[in-house]
Amino acid sequence: MEDEIGDSDGGVAGLTVAGSIAFAASGLFRRIADFVYPPVCAGCGVMIGKHGALCPVCWQSVHFIERPFCEVLGIPFAFNHEAGVAGEGGRMVSAKAIADPPRFDRLRAVAIHDGVARRLVHGLKYRDRTDLAIMMAAWMQRAGAEHLAGCDGILPVPLHWTRFALRKFNQSAELARHLAKLSSKPLLPSTLKRVKRTSRQVGLTAKGRQDNVRAAFAIVPGHEPDVFGKRLVLVDDVHTTGATVSSAAAVLKRAGATEVTVLTFALAISGPI
Ligand SMILES: [Zn+2]
Repeated sequence: MEDEIGDSDGGVAGLTVAGSIAFAASGLFRRIADFVYPPVCAGCGVMIGKHGALCPVCWQSVHFIERPFCEVLGIPFAFNHEAGVAGEGGRMVSAKAIADPPRFDRLRAVAIHDGVARRLVHGLKYRDRTDLAIMMAAWMQRAGAEHLAGCDGILPVPLHWTRFALRKFNQSAELARHLAKLSSKPLLPSTLKRVKRTSRQVGLTAKGRQDNVRAAFAIVPGHEPDVFGKRLVLVDDVHTTGATVSSAAAVLKRAGATEVTVLTFALAISGPI
């Protein structure tokens, strides 16, 4: 529990004797932990000063997403060959978002899905690096701050239970759990379920992916009040063609969600938008 170690300095004011012993012990514990597990860069493994961070080289290589980006699809215009159109409130919206509006209200992502960002996503998903979720969720909190602040609940894109059993944990749920803690918002881990086991999205065409995830999600009976009239943040690790989150967002909208913001760590860009 690396996050617990980092938080152990809290409440220094008003120390009792027992408290100061505990405080000294926690500091000692951290030093021992740092000795046994020295902090290393989450991107390349080089030793660094603190846990849950990147070295300067890896940090500089991450393509963080900053404005101007499409306010709906979240794609930065630097990756686009055409200019955006001024939308509501003078905010820029891409031609693609106008021509083919998604089922969610907006998408926000931390970084472009390449290099170090891609390695982090992969590490979390396939190599049981649950420790990465803490750092990745903190970055996601910054990327989605505006919409997390006003939301009523945070939910992960669920895995089908057979895949969950195989992999033992859902990386989206891990990210959502930390995001809920960081932003003090309700976590809704059992509101949405996957009713159809979809085949792996890798290698499928955009059309194939859409067919693959159609009607793949449902609201768990009894959880309708989590959704009806609520502003929700739907969390996933990476956004590719959007077929999966579109399907999940459509189910939430049909169940009466007033707003669905998709928040992902990485965003895969395929061609101009
Ligand atoms: Zn590094």
